[in-house]
Amino acid sequence: MNNTRFGSASPGSWSLSSIPGCEVVKIGESREKRTLYGMVCGKGPLHVSLTAGAHADEPVGPRAALRLAEEIVSEQTERGRWFASSCTFRIVPHTNPDGDAHNSSWQTNPPDFLDWLRGARREPPGEDVEFNYPGSKDDRALRPENSCTASFLAQSAQPYDLHYSMHSMGVAEGAWFLICREWAEMARKTGLCKRLADIGEASGLGLHDIERNGEKGFSRIDRGVSTTPRSDAMRSHFLERNDPGMAAKFRPSSMEYVQALGGNPLCLVSEVPMFVIRKRLPAAEGEVPAFEEVRRRLPSVREAALAGNDKPALELRQEFQIEPVSWEAHSELQIEFLRLCVEAVLNVKASQATPRWQVLPRWEVDPYGGSGEGE
Ligand SMILES: [Zn+2]
Repeated sequence: MNNTRFGSASPGSWSLSSIPGCEVVKIGESREKRTLYGMVCGKGPLHVSLTAGAHADEPVGPRAALRLAEEIVSEQTERGRWFASSCTFRIVPHTNPDGDAHNSSWQTNPPDFLDWLRGARREPPGEDVEFNYPGSKDDRALRPENSCTASFLAQSAQPYDLHYSMHSMGVAEGAWFLICREWAEMARKTGLCKRLADIGEASGLGLHDIERNGEKGFSRIDRGVSTTPRSDAMRSHFLERNDPGMAAKFRPSSMEYVQALGGNPLCLVSEVPMFVIRKRLPAAEGEVPAFEEVRRRLPSVREAALAGNDKPALELRQEFQIEPVSWEAHSELQIEFLRLCVEAVLNVKASQATPRWQVLPRWEVDPYGGSGEGE
């Protein structure tokens, strides 16, 4: 899955070129001078933006984005042909190639739990590429990755109908599908949540059915489906803990940025685990006690592994039946998530003579939500 017709996509080294049916452009450079690419493909009526790879230790999204582009361009599968005729995509397959390079030590397919524990590196808040998009037209205080991704996405002739940010979780009890709160009601009422739960179950991964009660913007919509995180909620979370310094590090996400470009895009974030926890503990709806316990123990297990003692990690893996997820299974679920959501948006559009959603002019949305604290 590392080499595609677009070129080479091995850890730390992304080199893509155009193939017929897909425009590939160099959109800028990362802080460490790696090239960022933008792709335009498909010729359908829905305008879709897609970003992947924001978080350094989540290597599968960028591979899934490339695989999707391959499917669209080759038109070899029914799904690829359908995507090509339904949507026009602007894709930034890797928004953080530096992060990818810093995580090259453990990028095997499937990943190894111990290599991951020892080698996963993630940028701290403030350096986080997902939460570093411009908050206004004149906002320049950005990582170069965000700056070039933002300008590439802003070149769309029309506001987006859908935005997708591909992410992953390290460990989880299954797949977790995130949908922006503006579309939560639609997702519940039209059966989209149920269809998402079904693909999560059918994949064999099951669902990560967690209720976080609005913390950082996450509110459970239905089984395995939650709202997307929000930077204003991130800031509130840290302000409530008397940490204004940390709060100020959360700037608009790609979801908020694309929403600010106008229209009312359905925003999606995929959270598919790289390692799935098979063990189940007694739980009520919206509780993931096995995950909570693994998460509580991970820091000390990681510390031991880094010090050369693998025993706690091996015990944790065995006790909670932690299994790696192949990149193919992981990508497939990320792409199917998109397919079902594109279908849902097409259905909403078809059922309305005039789209009922509010079309906001560009930049009228304030992604900071008027919460007051400046940079
Ligand atoms: Zn992430």
